Amino acid sequence: MAKATGISKAVAVGIGVITVSSVCGLVLMVVMFQLEIEGNPPLVPPTPTKPQVIPTDLPTNLRLFDYLIPESYNVVLQPYFYGAITNNYTNQSFFFTGNSTVKFKCMKDSKTIFLHVHNLNVTNVEVKSDSNEILKSSYTIHYNASNFLEIQLEGKLSGNGTYYHLFTNFEGELFENLNGLYVNRYTEKSKDEDEEDEERFLATSLLKPTDARRVFPCFDEPALKATFKITIIHRPGIKALSNGVGDEYSIEIHGEEWVVTQFPTTPNMSTYLLAFTLSDFTSKSIPAGTYMHIYAHREAIAAGHADYAAEITHPILIRYEKEFGLKYPLQQLDQIALPDFSVGVMENWGLISYQESGLLYDKETGSTFDKERVATQIAHGLAHQWFGNLVTMRWWNDLWLNEAFSTYMSYIGVEAANWDLKDLIVLREIQSAFQVDSLNSSHPLSMYENDIQTFSEIIELFDDVTYSKGAAVLRMLSSFMTETAFMRGVKTYLNNFKYNNTVYSDLLECLQKETNLDLEGFMSTWIEQVGYPVITIITQTGETSQEQFLLKPGVGHNIPWQVQITYIKSDDLGLKKDLLKVNGPVRRPHFQLKDEWVLANINCTGFYRVNYDEENWNKLQMQLEENHDIIPLINRGQLIDDAFNLARAHRLDLNIALNLTQFLVNDTEYIPWESALKNLDHLILMFDRSEVYGAMTKYLRKQITGLYEHFEEYTKNATIPVDYTDQLNQVNAISVACTNGLPDCIEMARSLFIKYKNGTNRIHPNLRRAIYCSAIATGDEDDWEFVWEEYQRTTVAAEKDKLRYALSCTKEIWLLNRYLEYTLDPSKIRKMDMVSTINYIAKNVAGQPLAWGFVRSKWSYITQEYGAGIISLGSLLDGVTKRFSRDVELEELKQLQRDQDKNENGFAARALQQVIERTEANIKWVNENKQNVKNWFNGQL
Ligand SMILES: [Zn+2]
Repeated sequence: MAKATGISKAVAVGIGVITVSSVCGLVLMVVMFQLEIEGNPPLVPPTPTKPQVIPTDLPTNLRLFDYLIPESYNVVLQPYFYGAITNNYTNQSFFFTGNSTVKFKCMKDSKTIFLHVHNLNVTNVEVKSDSNEILKSSYTIHYNASNFLEIQLEGKLSGNGTYYHLFTNFEGELFENLNGLYVNRYTEKSKDEDEEDEERFLATSLLKPTDARRVFPCFDEPALKATFKITIIHRPGIKALSNGVGDEYSIEIHGEEWVVTQFPTTPNMSTYLLAFTLSDFTSKSIPAGTYMHIYAHREAIAAGHADYAAEITHPILIRYEKEFGLKYPLQQLDQIALPDFSVGVMENWGLISYQESGLLYDKETGSTFDKERVATQIAHGLAHQWFGNLVTMRWWNDLWLNEAFSTYMSYIGVEAANWDLKDLIVLREIQSAFQVDSLNSSHPLSMYENDIQTFSEIIELFDDVTYSKGAAVLRMLSSFMTETAFMRGVKTYLNNFKYNNTVYSDLLECLQKETNLDLEGFMSTWIEQVGYPVITIITQTGETSQEQFLLKPGVGHNIPWQVQITYIKSDDLGLKKDLLKVNGPVRRPHFQLKDEWVLANINCTGFYRVNYDEENWNKLQMQLEENHDIIPLINRGQLIDDAFNLARAHRLDLNIALNLTQFLVNDTEYIPWESALKNLDHLILMFDRSEVYGAMTKYLRKQITGLYEHFEEYTKNATIPVDYTDQLNQVNAISVACTNGLPDCIEMARSLFIKYKNGTNRIHPNLRRAIYCSAIATGDEDDWEFVWEEYQRTTVAAEKDKLRYALSCTKEIWLLNRYLEYTLDPSKIRKMDMVSTINYIAKNVAGQPLAWGFVRSKWSYITQEYGAGIISLGSLLDGVTKRFSRDVELEELKQLQRDQDKNENGFAARALQQVIERTEANIKWVNENKQNVKNWFNGQL
């Protein structure tokens, strides 16, 4: 699944308990689904009864018993909605009913059964022995964060592996809340040109991490794997998809026509990987041995927007089969593009779900970056079919085993689709992980199992540490033990634990067999410890030491990491290695230098920063200015990133970092530029509300002019360079040049935009985002309204995203305020886009105070409405507070935290702590460096 941070509203919704006793003595049968169909569905869907709410404390342990082991489920679901409302259908309804039978094994005598249920009205519960004898029982639903369905038996269950059957009937509602089983609305162009667009409905699911319990009562923990036989009864005109190839037939219930789709029994799998979609989507099939389709709304399939996904899926799959040494285990591999989906990709086994922009690509309006996004998302989703689906972490504390592998492997998978993104892992994963992991409020890759219990604790693990640091640490491990040995160990790991669950030591054991190096000693420091080290090399003495790198100076932990220092020296460019196991300082004769320089962490294979004495920094800077090609490409970027962050952490003179941006006038490569721009961007955020900004923007204009001119021929001719990283850098050139007022750029953007307004959009798709933004920033209300109309008109998600971003670039306060209001109106801005839209507005200096004011004033609404799902409230907080560097802003954040504590709702608690810590660090840093920054930039003019 793609990254997110969110929170639970379970606690806020109401803490209570309700007890329902089954009618004693009444003989109820475990009804087969066929009988259910005949007897159950009423013409008018049932109204769920309101549960009686009695306050109750949250149990101290939210985990299920380990001695009740589910083996197989038989689940029937019947949603009542229609895909389209036509004259014939007047009773549109968003209810569903269902029943489930789970066969489970009991390993210890017991009188109680605990399983999960959430937001369902359970109408009947029955427990039977394997010989069909009914056990008298009563049941209780815990309306708190435990989500427990507790069944009390009059007699008892026998241990020793005795089998039982638990039957439940339930009813639920399809909300538009993006989790559990929920509804999407979208419009479809009418076949008749003159007719208005038609409204359509579909139902889909997102069950990761803990929302299978919203669909049917179940043992909803990843290690409680079972097989599932799913049956969906639905309206005609809708196709039901799930984790296998469905079999359809029509039936009549109470005089109405229904369709039954039955799916084959799944392999042993975790509940969170189930998927259900019901839509009138069409599909493009992929010619391959496996049954493969790409599903999307009709227009998209007809226009060929699924063609690219169809073209690359099979090659990536084949590549993984070869790399992992295991065939894709299922008969079916479907992928579906959903209008409303809160994560980029969800890896449901055999039915992977995407946001439309993650799966669909339009040749006409799509940029190369849109195309790459599709490849990257597919590669992530497919990697999960092994990492996560076939082999699953035992509990969420080891979520990184799923996500780090899928993230890391996606860089290998996309090669099969002709994308070479390997070097970009440094920008996309490593540098982002460095940011969050430099805070005291970060967390170790692998957490203690007991520390991760509630929904909010689980959901907060979907962050840059789990995904990006995880991928970085795997990359480091692969480099440490060699890639060949690493991949051999990975194959063993997958093969040994297929259809099973693991903890991270299982992985290390498999890898250890492939090498004589001490992996346990090496890896435990990176997996179990929070943070990462900065290595300091003093070239006068050769003294080398390590210390935890913290953005805000303070007390870290002093347990050393095992660090493999790779390095080159100016007089010997051959790669050397050195293992550092202690904090130090230890004397390393090879680091004691006279005239030469040393450069450590070659290609940034290690997850650490490097600091040097000032003399070595200066020599490296000289080298970059004389001939930057001597320094490996990735290191040209990493030197800049390290220097700026060391300066932020008060470990290095900021002038040294700033000096490192000077050689860029002679470098046109993307990685160094992107690293510099990211860090200068942070400086801009710190100072764009102060008088320092004038000098900064002049310097940026001066530095970017060369790069802008380097790509100008392409830009003028509406073409793009061949090389992908050059394409990325062309966009950097345009967006920095226009933002910092380079007249040529602004004029170019303006004239292209005017042609677009007049009816011909010949802006190359790669440049649209930057050019639309510049035009809106320098344009008026009429331009804004034009883009807003275009946004509403276009049905291609990737183009919509570019327009949605551009709308945030205006300097008009009233337009920004109105746009903010739109973000909470799902008919204008889809729910899944709320966070990123507000964050775009906050990035605009004119929008910053508005966005923060808006989020603060609507916080309780936002958390109620959006908090229960995976929607990234952590990322919202992160985005709207990036610029925070003033005391009053810190106070406002602390007030929010106090309010939260008072309400005991714990929304995005760790994220809030992280932004407070970052703001404190910024305040201190800005105070100390403002004059310095001003002097340096003024000195450049
Ligand atoms: Zn994932």
